[in-house]
Amino acid sequence: MSPVGTSPYAGLEPIMWRSLLARAAVFHAVRASLARLTDVTDQMQAVQLVLLELDLLARNLSALDCDDATAVATVVRDWKQVIVETIAGKPAGPEERTLLLELQDRIQSANVEDPFKGLFESVQAQAGALYGPSWRPSRLSVAHTLSHPRNADLKIDPYAVTAVTHLPPNAQAAEVELRIFCDKFGPAAYAAVPMLLAHEFVCHVPARQDKVKNDSDFAEGFLDWAAHYFLDRWAGKIDPQLAPAARRHADRLKGVLERRPDAPEVHARAMGHLAADNLVAWLEGDLELSPEESEARVARLAVQLNVLDRPLDLKDRFVGFLSCADLPPQMQEALRSWVADSVKAEQLLEVDVR
Ligand SMILES: [Zn+2]
Repeated sequence: MSPVGTSPYAGLEPIMWRSLLARAAVFHAVRASLARLTDVTDQMQAVQLVLLELDLLARNLSALDCDDATAVATVVRDWKQVIVETIAGKPAGPEERTLLLELQDRIQSANVEDPFKGLFESVQAQAGALYGPSWRPSRLSVAHTLSHPRNADLKIDPYAVTAVTHLPPNAQAAEVELRIFCDKFGPAAYAAVPMLLAHEFVCHVPARQDKVKNDSDFAEGFLDWAAHYFLDRWAGKIDPQLAPAARRHADRLKGVLERRPDAPEVHARAMGHLAADNLVAWLEGDLELSPEESEARVARLAVQLNVLDRPLDLKDRFVGFLSCADLPPQMQEALRSWVADSVKAEQLLEVDVR
């Protein structure tokens, strides 16, 4: 047996994987408490210290000569002891004490199973059902990065993880890669993984357009709006215990990404979301559809357009019309026919707007 265990991912050395797995196994075990754990304030110093101790325990694993299961069990045992001692030391307030007791209880269920694989399969099952016959199967890879994806202050942007989809030329199967800055991988980053996967699965894995552009209003914006829509609906099915934290950090990650005005994908995201919001409002106002039906129709439309083998420029052009304050009359006419089922989604891309 290897003294440092094994890594299931080519992009991660066994020592790095072990340290990441230990953290993720703990976050998975306490996932029902993650929404509160990621909101601890400076007043909750005992909880903050407990999290720092977890970080130290995970880092020190590389010195252990054992397999991964033993390594994870060791971190869990030692972290539980830290929690027990912290509770005995009388934390500041009843809320903090309750949270620590929750952690002490929930950590018992920690195990060595790969929680990234579990999340990946759960989100993929939802996206596969959404896209149906157009779904393109994909596999997960996990890689280590040497820095935070945005080199940000963790207090403002704790999401030390990002994701990217690789589509091979024949494109029968895709690869979704989680890129993790392992040393700074904390509970908020773990809670954001479902949203990151939803983005890759809704926007990129089944995409059929001719090219990939990270500044595409359609691919990075309009579809990202749909990814958020679906993540909100899927969260309870992906993992009911993680759902509150997954929803909260999907929203916060969106806020963090919006605050980077210089990045090309940020503008695309803003324009695509605006286009989707405009279309929802138009369906509510012009066709008097309910907010729920309007949102559902826009999300569906994004999915239908994504699997059309048409040029990305044409899809971006369509999103461009929607992002105007006033929808062109020809487009309004086409959209009314689309809602009435007399025009297909594909024809919306061809509307002659003068
Ligand atoms: Zn993307």
